[in-house]
Amino acid sequence: MRTKPALIFVAALCAVTFAVAPAAPAGKQDGPHVASYWEKFKDTVIQCKLCPRKCVIRDGARGFCTARENRGGTLYALGYGKPVALHIDPIEKKPFFHVAPGEKAFSIAAAGCNMRCLFCQNWQISQAKPDEVKSRFTPPEEIVEAAVKNDCKYIAYTYTEPTVFYEYMLDIAKLARQKGIKNTMHSCGYINEAPLKELLKYMDAVNIDLKGFNEAFYRKMGAFAELQPVLDTIKTVKKRRRLARDNELSHPRAERQPRRDTENVRMDKGKCRR
Ligand code: SF4
Repeated sequence: MRTKPALIFVAALCAVTFAVAPAAPAGKQDGPHVASYWEKFKDTVIQCKLCPRKCVIRDGARGFCTARENRGGTLYALGYGKPVALHIDPIEKKPFFHVAPGEKAFSIAAAGCNMRCLFCQNWQISQAKPDEVKSRFTPPEEIVEAAVKNDCKYIAYTYTEPTVFYEYMLDIAKLARQKGIKNTMHSCGYINEAPLKELLKYMDAVNIDLKGFNEAFYRKMGAFAELQPVLDTIKTVKKRRRLARDNELSHPRAERQPRRDTENVRMDKGKCRR
């Protein structure tokens, strides 16, 4: 059961949402949005191909992230158009220290995550289902419009895991590009190569949280996640020259490894080295 402080926190986020986003124009409709990167597994059973979990989802069920649902043999992205946090942050808070010092980043999140880190700072929204957190339908056009009105030259996909609101992020990013606004993403890096490559066409800077540096740690802290796909993501981002900044958002005592394991990760010619 959700605790009272969590409810207050979520309510505060919603208040921010309405403070910066204009009202939805007439004609824009909330509704189920068909997801990308999935295929039929058997009959009405689906396999999602967005992230390395590759969830096999029966009719009426959701994937591990709870943000993608099988309805009658079609996969829907439940977080599309449903921001649960909108806020204007200094870009250094994303954290991108050397991308555009002093600039503002219009930050956005929808509910859900494909990991279950025990030390998550935003668990109230990252571990919630999209229908558990209050939100108002806000199409991509409105997000970009709000960024322009608030003089933000950057949009940041952040707070929760942007991968699980992939389609929404991609549509916003495409529109933002047309308006001369740059896109940044702060992610756990748990995404498959094909959707990542498509996304990187529109991303200007990417920050990947490397939460630890061994498989056992990822299995334990990320609910049976794997380290290798995260390293693969970092390599792909680096190859595409999208400023792969490895952010150490791990819990130093949880890993029970010398801190140098994470501190000494370097990108060298597209390879992760220690
Ligand atoms: S994005 Fe969600 S539904 Fe798709 S494979 Fe990952 S956890 Fe499963």
